[in-house]
Formats: sequence, C-alpha cells, structure tokens
Amino acid sequence: MTVNLLGLDHAALKAFCTNLGEKPFRARQLLRWIHHAGVGDFAAMTDMSRALRERLPACASVTAPGVLSDTVAADGTRKWLLDVGTGNAIETVFIPEARRGTLCISSQAGCALACTFCSTGHQGFNRNLTAEEIIGQLWLAARVLRSDLAVERPISNVVMMGMGEPLANFDNVAAAMRLMLDDTAYGLSRRRVTLSTAGLVPGIERLREECPVALAVSLHAPNDGLRNELVPLNRKYPLKVLLAACLRYIEKAPRDFVTFEYVMLAGVNDAVAQARELVRLVKDVPCKINLIPFNPFPGTQYTRSGPEAIARFQDALTREGLITTIRKTRGDDIDAACGQLAGYVRDRTKRRQRSEKEAAA
Ligand code: SAH
Repeated sequence: MTVNLLGLDHAALKAFCTNLGEKPFRARQLLRWIHHAGVGDFAAMTDMSRALRERLPACASVTAPGVLSDTVAADGTRKWLLDVGTGNAIETVFIPEARRGTLCISSQAGCALACTFCSTGHQGFNRNLTAEEIIGQLWLAARVLRSDLAVERPISNVVMMGMGEPLANFDNVAAAMRLMLDDTAYGLSRRRVTLSTAGLVPGIERLREECPVALAVSLHAPNDGLRNELVPLNRKYPLKVLLAACLRYIEKAPRDFVTFEYVMLAGVNDAVAQARELVRLVKDVPCKINLIPFNPFPGTQYTRSGPEAIARFQDALTREGLITTIRKTRGDDIDAACGQLAGYVRDRTKRRQRSEKEAAA
C-alpha cells in the first residue's frame, strides 16, 4: 500500500514520517517540496537523505487526478476535466484577471442539493472528493500554470465554488484548506480563500470554529417561499436561521462582511420589489451582494435576466446602501461559467431517472 502524500496536511505528514522512523522535521521538507515547489518526484527532493529518497517510492506517491481535457476559453479562462475514477470526472477552472488569478475548485462528484438553476445539481450525486482530490486540483493547476504563464505564483485566490456543496464534505475540504493556508505549502491568506455554501447551517458553525475563511452564501431569493423552490435546502435551514449563522460567522471571519450570491433569473427573482425585499431581509448582516447573471445549460427552464433588469435590481440595492457588484461572466464559451460545471457524474441518487419519470407522468 502506498500513501498519497498530496492529501496530508502538516500534522498528518508528521505522523507519516514518525511511522517511517524519520524525524518529524522531514514533514516540513516534504510539504515544501510537494506544495510550495510543486515537485512530485522524490528523487528530486535534494535536501533529504539519499536513503529516504530511495525508500519513499515504495510506500508513498504524489498523485493528482488524471487530466481528461484541458480547454482555454476566448477570454483566457481555462478548464480542466479531471478523472476521479469509476466513471466520475470533475471540473476545475482558472480565471485570470489583471491583478489576480483565481482557481475555482470542486468538492464533490455531483451535488446532492438539487438547486433548480444549477447544472451540477441536475446531474445528481456520486460521492465526496477526498482531501487529495481537492488539493490535487490546486497542485496540478499551479504546476501547469507556473510553467505555461512563466510566473512564480499564478494562483493568488482560491474559491470553493466548483461542483458540489463544500460544507457537506467538511473534513476533506477543511484538510485541503489547511494546506492552502499553510505557509510551507501554498501560504494563501484567509481572505484569499473563499468558501461558498448553499446554506448548510451546521457547516457554517463548524467553519467558524475550525477554519474561518472568507464566506459566500448562495441566497438567490428574498423570502422563504421562493427560496424553498430554488434552493430546496432552505426547507431544512430557512432564511432566519441562515442569516443568524451568517451574523455569528462575522465574529471570526477574516473579512468584516459575508458575500451573498444572487443568481439573476428572468421573471423569477429579478423584480425591483424583490430587491427591496432583499434589502429588508439582510439589513442586520454586514454584507456585500454579488449578482450572478444566470448561465444557461442544456435542459434548463430558466433564462438570464436582461441587462436592464439587472441594472435596475442593482440600483435598488445600492440606493439603500448595499454594496452590490455584478459578477462578470467568464469562460461561458467552454461551459466554465458559474453553474455550468458538469464533468461526468454517475448519479447514485437516480435524480435524472426520477425527474424524467415525473416529466413523463
Ligand atoms: N454549493 C455551493 C458551491 C457552488 S458555488 C453553493 O451553492 O454556494 C457556485 C455558485 O454559482 C453558487 O452561488 C451557485 O448558486 C451559482 N450558480 C449555480 N448555477 C448557476 C447558473 N446556472 N448560473 C449562474 N450561477 C449559478
């Protein structure tokens, strides 16, 4: 049995070294080589003893998910389709901007939450990704981009906004985020790692205690009636409970606000009256609003709000003092935009079959 060292954080690597009869400081060296330098070949880790370098391949590896495809959009957005075995594949997206490079990482093969406007949600759910599959996305993208773009640190920000609900896979996501934050590994500040959730309240509470990074919450509706429809998880954790958790989160958060994401669906949630309702809803929570123009995918019933409707909605919010930005659509020509990530998911929840049966009935 070989251990994949990619998913081990500092504490776990120390335990691994101790088990081998090695000094614990080797863990720091391994961490530096693997994550900071992006080296996966033990023979190249030149400050470790030759004996250890020769011993490691028999008991350990550094293995990232295999690349099935690698596509670059007209605007420079780049998407990798990665094999995670048994017919499942996930997607990772790099979004270059003038002063930062953001990597959007997946946390599950599929998603169990079934938000009605999300492509991943339509595919159903297979399983949680392991810590090594999660951090493997960053490891792989950083290596490829460093050599292709010839910059030392091509990725300045990470967003846990790919496929899946990150808080439904808490332990593995937290282990991967600890590596992102570790100075010996990726050394990203907590402000530059953002986790987005559909509103899993117990997960928000745990995140606050165990690994407070920047928090984004997918709100999408100004009241429980509409949100129950769009984000079925709302039936379990309604707005009142969710907003209270957001307010508590701010005490420990690296930023003094929560970002509320709001997808703009024509004729569904984009009326000015709904913007006013949204203002009243969030009035007690320090926040910024990020409006996301809906990105279509095959089989969806929704259309994107027009630019005038989005501008009116934004105006109604800013007028009341809410800082509101509109998310720029990136990479939609290669289906890499928000809500378009699909990969391949062997749905174990039979969601497709059920919804097709319902449609037929
Ligand atoms: N499950 C987490 C992580 C996904 S993040 C969450 O719900 O937050 C992806 C973001 O894109 C979320 O805000 C999600 O609601 C939004 N999104 C999903 N489908 C979309 C679509 N078709 N167009 C635009 N945004 C979408």
